[in-house]
Amino acid sequence: MTRKGWCPGALRPMPAGDGLLLRVRPHGSRLDPGQVAGLAEISETFGNGQLDLGSRATLQLRGVGDDALPEVQRRLATLDLLDGDPQQEARRNIMVTPFWHEGDGTLDLVRELEMVLRDAPDLPPKFGFAIDTGTRAALQDASADIRIERAGDDLLLRADGMSLGERVGPDRVVSRIADVLAWFAASGHGRMAQAIAAELKPPLTEDAAPDRQLPRRDLLRTAPFLFAPFGAATSAALRDLAAHALRLTPWRAVLPEDDARSGSWLTDPDDPLLRVSACTGAPGCASASVESRALARQLAPYVPAGQHLHVSGCAKGCAHPAAAPVTLTGRDGRFDLIRNGPAGGKPLLRGLTDTEISDLLRGHLGA
Ligand code: SF4
Repeated sequence: MTRKGWCPGALRPMPAGDGLLLRVRPHGSRLDPGQVAGLAEISETFGNGQLDLGSRATLQLRGVGDDALPEVQRRLATLDLLDGDPQQEARRNIMVTPFWHEGDGTLDLVRELEMVLRDAPDLPPKFGFAIDTGTRAALQDASADIRIERAGDDLLLRADGMSLGERVGPDRVVSRIADVLAWFAASGHGRMAQAIAAELKPPLTEDAAPDRQLPRRDLLRTAPFLFAPFGAATSAALRDLAAHALRLTPWRAVLPEDDARSGSWLTDPDDPLLRVSACTGAPGCASASVESRALARQLAPYVPAGQHLHVSGCAKGCAHPAAAPVTLTGRDGRFDLIRNGPAGGKPLLRGLTDTEISDLLRGHLGA
């Protein structure tokens, strides 16, 4: 069902420890109220009621049974959440800022880019786009290969890994993206930043730097985001928001387009639960020998503001591929502790039990 190196989709689900995982890529990183209600119902009826908010402003249905897959895909198609074929789906890695507003051209750009991608050359599985054309810069630390941003009143087209981009009018931006894609496909690299690091130069002029982005903590205070700890939402939490259009983000949060309240979501970006990241772990992931989220919840109150703890079910580090001040990586039913490294980094301590970790971490996290 899946091929190595391919990212899961709704047409190409990934088997996980709790059933099939379907990654849904809403157009424009936005769900209308009908789509919110429809996804909650699909998750309740055919999945296990668990949904992940992905780091590329996607949403993942979990625990779908093999037998239910055709019906789930049929319903997703009815909701306009299914692509025509797996190739189209795989290419449509388009993340859109939640800070767009009607009439600013952002959604037009998304539609045009989707059209161009239908006929684009084959792209590596993780290759993606960030459309960061809202009222403030927001996606500069989110994973993307081609960035469409603003420099003052101008649009900027920038290759990831370059500090400067090309000023381009809205009528030309998509054709210039097509030029860059043709160049990249011939480069032989998997990600744009690798190509730039290898000193290849895309066919773009270097006119200007994008607007500067606020630090993440400040950015998340600029709008009433609703947060899901670990990016793990439930069908009930989604149903609570079913009367609202939602903008998806890469920050384990959604932004309702109007005033929405629900006790199922966190509202304070400084909540200690948002200082920890943890993957699905056991039993939802077959690669894990430990439960990661239970331990992360237990340790969250000890994590000081501005710090970050990553609890990973195994060395792959899905929830936080980058380094963290403290990472706990599951191995053979216990945890290794890594300081200032990723989940696969060199451990400072090995083979810790849950009970040994708690006391120990008060010192490490406070240091
Ligand atoms: S980090 Fe390992 S255990 Fe956690 S979700 Fe990824 S593969 Fe599974």
